[in-house]
Amino acid sequence: MCGLCLPHCPTYNKTGNEAESPRGRISLILGLANDQLQADEKLISHLDNCLLCRACEAVCPSSVQFGDIMDSARSTLAQDNSPTEKRISLTQLATDKSRQRRDAKLLWLANKTGLRALGRGLGVTRAMGLERFERLAPSIRQPHDWRDYYPSKFDHQGDVALFIGCFGDMFDQATLDDSILILNACGYGVHVPNQQTCCGALHQHNGDSQKARQLAQQNLDAFAQLDIAAVISCATGCGSYLKEYEKVIDTSLPVCDINTFLSQIEWPDSLQFKPLTKKVVVHEPCSQRNVLKETDSTYALLKRIPELDVMALPGNEQCCGAAGSYMIDHPEMADKLQNDKIEAVKLTTPDFLVTANIGCALHLGAGAKSANIKFEILHPVSLLARQMHPQA
Ligand code: SF4
Ligand code: SF4
Repeated sequence: MCGLCLPHCPTYNKTGNEAESPRGRISLILGLANDQLQADEKLISHLDNCLLCRACEAVCPSSVQFGDIMDSARSTLAQDNSPTEKRISLTQLATDKSRQRRDAKLLWLANKTGLRALGRGLGVTRAMGLERFERLAPSIRQPHDWRDYYPSKFDHQGDVALFIGCFGDMFDQATLDDSILILNACGYGVHVPNQQTCCGALHQHNGDSQKARQLAQQNLDAFAQLDIAAVISCATGCGSYLKEYEKVIDTSLPVCDINTFLSQIEWPDSLQFKPLTKKVVVHEPCSQRNVLKETDSTYALLKRIPELDVMALPGNEQCCGAAGSYMIDHPEMADKLQNDKIEAVKLTTPDFLVTANIGCALHLGAGAKSANIKFEILHPVSLLARQMHPQA
């Protein structure tokens, strides 16, 4: 109840309303638990407006586990309140691999041919709404299926497994391909088990803890038989949740974010990068800052590219508003937070913005499109892969 977290909470900063702050939300949850308050529409919306960015948790001197408290509250409330249609479409799409692959192909075709009508029949369009989809839809590489195993190129150091995710696999195969390329070049063989599924974070944070547990178990089974050094995650939103599986099903996965893994292993001397005289700003996703607490790894990786001018995006401590399905469910607040980021980008005038989370990349990309400012958004690993010497 000290209130030290309040200035770090984006929804409190934007509204000045105690009920939109971490302390206010904890009081509301306490009132519900003690049967002193009713779960009316207003109370539910205060809890629903939370981004689960966990900035409050990261600064709390009493180590209050805000994320767990909010997940439990939403799970309890979900028993008596139906999710919105958008949420249902999105969470169903997250676990339906064949629809994801079909939608990704149509999206790629829509981009390539300019036939925007092709994008209108997609499940993801129904989940987001057409206008929002057209803002968020990125240009993607031609979608492909995954092989079971990608062998290392040089001295074999060991094996890892790649977590491909749901929307990562749909919208960001480029980052996954580039991660395999660099892991192979560093001597690691990469398994991509076909039985893996969505991490379950979307379901858990939207109150469906039963489905979240089921997905966590499926992923555990998919990776359990492999003799691997780590399960590599290429999106910090998924990675931070995968790392907390112990809270969901009492068993952990040896998960490591790709930036962290690459910054901890030994690299072969032959693996060198071409110089790049450009400016890159680093966006630090909340999941990387507040949950994984591993933002240094991105800067360490980018240092490998000679002559690259690297700086942190001012205001990194505030969430960009993407926050899983938040950018779709809460467009007004999401766009306010996005606007702060776009203003910060305008001041820094970068050639590239790197972010280690696909959700943030999509949301910031939509903001840049609306503001009509030109810079490229990509994962740090993709920038490295692009600068790799061909002989490596
Ligand atoms: S998780 Fe983020 S939005 Fe939610 S109360 Fe904490 S700081 Fe505020
Ligand atoms: S969550 Fe932590 S920082 Fe925030 S009011 Fe409670 S004790 Fe203070």
